[in-house]
Amino acid sequence: MYICYIDESGTPEVPGTTSHYVLAGISVPIWFWRTCEDEIALIKRRYALESAEIHTGWIMRRYQEQIRVPNFESLNYTQRISEVEKIRRAELLRLQAAPNRKRFKQVDKTYRMTRPYIHLSYDERRRLIKDIATAVGNWRFARLFAECIDKVHFDPTRATCTPDEQAFEQLVSRYERYLDNISPSQGQLPPGQLQTSFGLLIHDNNETVAKKHTDLMKSFHNNGTLWTRIQHIIETPLFVNSELTSMIQIADLCAYVLRRYLENQEEELFRLIFPRADRFGGQTVGVRHFTASRCTCAICSSHRTAPFSLTP
Ligand SMILES: [Zn+2]
Repeated sequence: MYICYIDESGTPEVPGTTSHYVLAGISVPIWFWRTCEDEIALIKRRYALESAEIHTGWIMRRYQEQIRVPNFESLNYTQRISEVEKIRRAELLRLQAAPNRKRFKQVDKTYRMTRPYIHLSYDERRRLIKDIATAVGNWRFARLFAECIDKVHFDPTRATCTPDEQAFEQLVSRYERYLDNISPSQGQLPPGQLQTSFGLLIHDNNETVAKKHTDLMKSFHNNGTLWTRIQHIIETPLFVNSELTSMIQIADLCAYVLRRYLENQEEELFRLIFPRADRFGGQTVGVRHFTASRCTCAICSSHRTAPFSLTP
């Protein structure tokens, strides 16, 4: 039995606020689930983040208030939190009095979402994400699946579905193929022994996609996807709260890293997680970049040839 944790990065709307929409899934055999959870918990503890969610997009930002604190790096965690909160409180009070309510709401949200990480400097936060990506990259038992849609090349007038529907169908198809490939073929096991590797999808709880993906999965079970019949994935996706499930946070990290590689050519984290992309016959089949046919990124290159290589 295998569990594939799914999360997204970027906006599925065309054009939306990002050039790419990425839906990523990280699959682990259930007998390795505890190993993964323990390893992530250990890294979080090293950064005093035991009860915090690893929300990579918020962690990787630069926090202006930290830059304004003199000698921020030399302060201890308690002092850092106190100094940053002091600046933030003053800024919120100033914005509260200003006529622009929209700006106040944006800033308030940024402060809330980054609150768990303000005791860590920008370099420490980058190191935290790198440590997690390194751990994921070493999980030889795990497989990464993803559909990365370049919305510049997504033509809504010709497409039969939206970017997020296309991404989900692609991800389900590739996961199904993977489960089929690792299932022992007839005759390899004694009669009566279970011969199929089953998989389950676990999705970050997002009300707008929950119903859509549940309905899509029901239709895939009945009619197959465009590419394959569904014989190994069981049930409709289960939806969980990402705050409570570390592995969903890892799917979030993978989606973020893939998107940042494609949009900003950020290679450091990409190099760490991309080796986990599912491969078959020497070709990367688990991760696809939906874009112009002449794209020379590492994902497109490794779709065509093997093994994948990045420019040094
Ligand atoms: Zn590409």
